[in-house]
Amino acid sequence: MYDVAIIGAGPAGASAALFSAKAGKKTIIFENDKSMTNRAWVENHYGVNGIEGPALLELGKKQAVKQGAEVVNRTVVNIDKESEGFTITTEENQQFQTKYVLLATGAITDLASKAGVNLVAGTEPRIKTIVEVDADGKTNIDGIWAAGTIAGVSVHTIITAGHGASVAINIISELNGERYVDHDVLKL
Ligand SMILES: Cc1cc2nc3c(=O)[nH]c(=O)nc-3n(C[C@H](O)[C@H](O)[C@H](O)COP(=O)(O)OP(=O)(O)OC[C@H]3O[C@@H](n4cnc5c(N)ncnc54)[C@H](O)[C@@H]3O)c2cc1C
Repeated sequence: MYDVAIIGAGPAGASAALFSAKAGKKTIIFENDKSMTNRAWVENHYGVNGIEGPALLELGKKQAVKQGAEVVNRTVVNIDKESEGFTITTEENQQFQTKYVLLATGAITDLASKAGVNLVAGTEPRIKTIVEVDADGKTNIDGIWAAGTIAGVSVHTIITAGHGASVAINIISELNGERYVDHDVLKL
């Protein structure tokens, strides 16, 4: 049983996986190489002095794996609520059990819709539909959360990555029963 299953390894999903795994949560992230960032040249990501989108995606996944997250290159086709947690099913009919699900599927909403998550009209340019979330990133289904483009934030890597981290901290805090913070100290 995983603590957190993240669908999507774009900036939102990979950033969330980095925080979740670094907090010691058993974390799995599914990815099917459909990130819109594959087409980006990014000059406006704070702290990064110009980077190709594909390179940013690879770096993000490497950071999450370094902290212990498992990356699975599979398309998720079903999310089923169980008495405890959820069953995630891939296109190859592989099944995974998890306590929490974080949707970070970018502009792709079909999986969320199939899982019964409420969808609403998008407000960002070129984003037609998003998942309805509260301020913490919770959807209408207890245990399913959403981050990044699919949660309606501004479609920029620094913002979607930041939102992924923010929602992950909310999930970790709920799992821990107290507010979580992740600070490493410079060894002088
Ligand atoms: C042409 C272009 C140029 C851009 N230039 C910039 C720029 O200069 N600066 C900037 O800040 N932003 C730029 N962006 C926007 C940036 O790419 C987005 O902000 C960011 O990628 C959104 O992150 P995300 O994680 O929400 O979604 P995405 O990066 O789209 O990630 C979604 C992930 O979900 C996965 N996925 C979806 N469904 C499933 C499923 N069922 N199973 C498994 N995996 C699934 C996809 O494979 C993908 O990895 C640009 C975008 C485009 C299209």
